[in-house]
Amino acid sequence: MMQTPLTLVSMFERAEKFFPKKSVISRTHDAIRRFTYKETGARIRALGSVLEKLNVKKGDKVGTLAWNHHRHLEAYFAIPSLGAVLHTINIRLSLDHLAYIINHAEDKVLLIDEDVLPLVEKIRDQLTTVEAFIVMTDKAVLPESTLDPLYSYERLLEDGDEQYTFTADIAENDPAGMCYTSATTGKPKGVVYTHRGIVLHAMALSMADTAALSESDVIMPVVPMFHVNAWGMPFAATWLGSTQVLPGPMSVPKVLAELIESYKVTKTAGVPTIWLGLLNEIEQNDYDMSSLEAVLCGGAAAPKGLIQAFEQKHGIPFMHAYGLTETTPLVTISRLKSYQQNLSNEEQLDIRAKQGMVVPGLEVKVVNDRGEVQPDGEDMGELLVRGPWIADEYYKDDRTQDAFRDGWFYTGDVVTVDGEGNIKIVDRTKDLIKSGGEWISSVDLENALMAHDAVYEAAVVAVPDPKWQERPIACVVLKEGAAATKEDLIQFLEPQFAKFWLPDDILFLEEIPKTSVGKFLKRALRKQVEEALEV
Ligand code: ADP
Repeated sequence: MMQTPLTLVSMFERAEKFFPKKSVISRTHDAIRRFTYKETGARIRALGSVLEKLNVKKGDKVGTLAWNHHRHLEAYFAIPSLGAVLHTINIRLSLDHLAYIINHAEDKVLLIDEDVLPLVEKIRDQLTTVEAFIVMTDKAVLPESTLDPLYSYERLLEDGDEQYTFTADIAENDPAGMCYTSATTGKPKGVVYTHRGIVLHAMALSMADTAALSESDVIMPVVPMFHVNAWGMPFAATWLGSTQVLPGPMSVPKVLAELIESYKVTKTAGVPTIWLGLLNEIEQNDYDMSSLEAVLCGGAAAPKGLIQAFEQKHGIPFMHAYGLTETTPLVTISRLKSYQQNLSNEEQLDIRAKQGMVVPGLEVKVVNDRGEVQPDGEDMGELLVRGPWIADEYYKDDRTQDAFRDGWFYTGDVVTVDGEGNIKIVDRTKDLIKSGGEWISSVDLENALMAHDAVYEAAVVAVPDPKWQERPIACVVLKEGAAATKEDLIQFLEPQFAKFWLPDDILFLEEIPKTSVGKFLKRALRKQVEEALEV
């Protein structure tokens, strides 16, 4: 067979050629705008020509610090199409980490949203490789800034060449993008994505038995474009010619609900905290959510109660998926097999709340701490993954040796696998609670608590215990206006768990600290709990 390279250039060219009338709808700071793929293609080309004039060459890194909007989408294609590397930067990281990753990646140019400029100004003096800054704004006038040289994205594009042809000689295994994981300890770790990996991942995302993305979809990635390429959705959606809705900055639940209603969004993706927020919004106010065909949820475990509320109360199909920055990210997706459709609601929900089966194209195995493969069933072990969109190293980082061994990526997630091949994440290795020689899953307790009517959010952490080594403590945020006592919640958990699993205490909090991508920040919570309990 022919060996033709799988590259990102052909992805946007396909949209430009076959779907010139279809749209990208983009919410920016100042407006909601609509661009056809014809216009988007021309803008990608113009951006390519502009970056070339700024001396961006094959292999150079170009950083983006931006929300989900059309300019970011244009950068997604223009940068890799030059043979350069799109480095999406998580704007919620600490200043130290921001400076670290920009220097570590050796970014040459930074594309920055206007509201993020002050962050970059604060670390300007620490940046050792950046030669130019470009501000992405709707405003005609360049904002006041100490960054130098600072260009306006739109002014540059006016002088750009909309007919520009990308001529870089790109091999499919060349780097196209990179992203740093928001490491919970130590410095962020860089992951480089190849053209081939991204293209194959987009294919995997579009299969009928996965997220089934298609031309007829209106796709709204809520997961930030700086978090594992918004889970690859902008790449797949462009390639397929789907309509895209990019929700922009500060996309609070009300904004999301309005966008879904106005543009008849069919598929959307985000972390559970986003969907908890949306659920709250649609329960308080009336919206038409009938266009939704799939709410993809990943990044952290989707509580059963959340799935149930979306599906059974609101008739919105929910889809639980799992992956990591190192895996581009899709690894598993939870769907019922044809012969499971007639199981009871409860049985179906039990399956759907698991993270699901590995998607076609990847292989997984589960090993115990002696490296022995665990049989399917009750036995827990660490999940290992390999395949064409799985990283095989961290970018210039010694920690590669821990995570990438013998041709496998060690995910750091402890799982069980049922007889149907469905993976259930029990916990992250570091969050498992070790009590009296047994393991307690913080995730299971959290999900059970979040199924209680009065509970908005729940997170469970371990505290040191002289007798048992560690014991679970639950932290709960109650829904507005709802009431429940510690005793109520323990009583609610009792029939579901062995006695030693029950939390020793339940603390009621105003909010649970979250990571930069909206997951529970267990490290901070543990500290907070230890201080509160004086352990
Ligand atoms: P980080 O959270 O370290 O920034 P990632 O965003 O790559 O990095 O997160 C990957 C981790 O998120 C996984 O290792 C896993 O622990 C967790 N995760 C992702 N999806 C799910 C899911 N559906 N259920 C439970 N945990 C999940």
